[in-house]
Amino acid sequence: MCGIVGFTGKRQAVPVLLEGLYTLEYRGYDSAGVCLQVKDGLKTIKTKGRIKVLEDKIAGQGEISSTCGIGHTRWATHGAPSDRNSHPHDSMDGRVSLVHNGIIENYLELRSRLTEKGVEFKSDTDTEAVAHLFASHFHGDGVAAMLDTCRELKGSYALAVICADNKGELICTRHDNPLIVGIGEGENMIASDIPAIMGITKNFIVIDDGEVVRVTPDRVEVFDRNGAPVTKEVQTVNWDIEGAQKGGYDHFMIKEIMEQPKAFKDTVALRINEKGLPDLGAEGVTGDIFKNIRNIHIVACGSAYYAGLAGKVALERLARIPVIANVASEFRYSDPIIDKNDMCIVISQSGETADTLAALREAKARGAVTVAVVNVLASSAAREADHVIYTWAGPEIAVATTKAYSAQLAVMYLLALEAARQRGEMSDEQAASYCQSLKEMPSLIEKTLEVSGQIKELAQLYYKQNDAFFIGRGIDYMAAQEGSLKLKEIAYVHSEAYAGGELKHGPISLIEDGTPVIALACDESLYEKQISNIKSVKARGARVILITNGDFDIDPDMCDHVVKLPKCPYFMSASLSVIPAQFLSYYIGVFRGCDIDKPRNLAKSVTVE
Ligand code: GLU
Repeated sequence: MCGIVGFTGKRQAVPVLLEGLYTLEYRGYDSAGVCLQVKDGLKTIKTKGRIKVLEDKIAGQGEISSTCGIGHTRWATHGAPSDRNSHPHDSMDGRVSLVHNGIIENYLELRSRLTEKGVEFKSDTDTEAVAHLFASHFHGDGVAAMLDTCRELKGSYALAVICADNKGELICTRHDNPLIVGIGEGENMIASDIPAIMGITKNFIVIDDGEVVRVTPDRVEVFDRNGAPVTKEVQTVNWDIEGAQKGGYDHFMIKEIMEQPKAFKDTVALRINEKGLPDLGAEGVTGDIFKNIRNIHIVACGSAYYAGLAGKVALERLARIPVIANVASEFRYSDPIIDKNDMCIVISQSGETADTLAALREAKARGAVTVAVVNVLASSAAREADHVIYTWAGPEIAVATTKAYSAQLAVMYLLALEAARQRGEMSDEQAASYCQSLKEMPSLIEKTLEVSGQIKELAQLYYKQNDAFFIGRGIDYMAAQEGSLKLKEIAYVHSEAYAGGELKHGPISLIEDGTPVIALACDESLYEKQISNIKSVKARGARVILITNGDFDIDPDMCDHVVKLPKCPYFMSASLSVIPAQFLSYYIGVFRGCDIDKPRNLAKSVTVE
């Protein structure tokens, strides 16, 4: 998420830091700030809003001479976007200043411990606790202080610190969040991503998890988590800035597809407690909130709606609550049958989707308990719903969603497990076993990403086709709908998703020689039925791509290609089976020359009806 930069050298730091921050803008952010080493200490300037606002604010302070500083663009996770929640965060005495990307999971515990010691907090962020913690460990040696600090941190972080007393020195570290050091001549930089250093150098080293780095104008020293020196290999960038922003990928979409394991992991990590059980206590979705619920309404648009449909399968099958899923634009005008006995779950990446917001207001006005599943902190849906469960997918740049959809699925699984437990439909033991599966999903998603090469070859075979079908039953049908939407959005291919058993009631008449049918079969209990449906399209000339985790015998009258997936609990399988569909849409879109990250006629945040 978002961006960190740091500079130390002989030239003025402000322009270098600002230029670095501008190149990281693509990552998405809501506020920005810098801290500079000045003659008599540190100077922190930060603001909610764009980097330009920060630039004007700095300019408004008159001449600032500084050759060492840190900068940050924040994508708020803890505490709304505001001036005081922006980074950097300073220690109480103002001698230490810190920026952070990521999430500190044990910040509440750190916060209360530090408060007891007399620390006064100025922000609502998780990050500020780290600034004070570092200050409490700092006795002159920044590396030692950082090592001690990291021993007490849980979560994901890239951190950069400057201290008033150690002139020209940047201290940084990382765990599960990116960080590199740019190696210049008589000047060095640190950054979250390569584009930010390209103003001064093309040479860089990649910091690994747990390593702590001391950067001065002439030296870069790297230490492992025990404080032993580490030798790093210097690499050279051979991309231009735009290529570098995409991490070397051709498009944001493919980069974001590849980020799905992390999006899923970050979303579930904080929500499984030490007993291994689902825990949405921090979101207030706890106690017996599900106990007396009569119906759950899931309301969303586009891919978020399809994530909701997968959630419906999980909620109904595990928690035995009737779930009514509806697209928001229909729900709001349907005079919906919903009242205080019901719960309404709205899902939206941006939290600003106009139809979804209106539906949320409608449900609230009728007395329902409202839960918003959103990716953007403090967005309208997040503020208005009774409860908000954030997806921690990080900023998503490509218009068509991939990683935010994955994170939405993760939240739906958590909700289903929590609901099932509260309603006595699932023992703690069973819930813990499913939570274990949730923890294993990121590595299964990672494994599934390996199908990329195979799918690229399939895309090469089929990209000229103008029509396609997706079929599936149960949870596979829900994933099929999202897959089909992706193909429409990205590759402009007419595509329809049908429940496997429904084909024979009409659409099978459209199957001709060579029509591509993407068939999903990932729910063991439905393999046989789905195979019959597949055979019936194959018999009519379809070219079938079978996506399955099954070990059944596959014969040539069933399909033309098989994409094998790892096994997981059936209700989580959409998280895996959607991946081949994402790749297929992506590569077909590329071969058809489509504008992948900005498909025609579409917008990222749909704020109109
Ligand atoms: N969790 C931190 C915050 O909300 C850092 C977020 C970020 O990565 O920018 O302030």
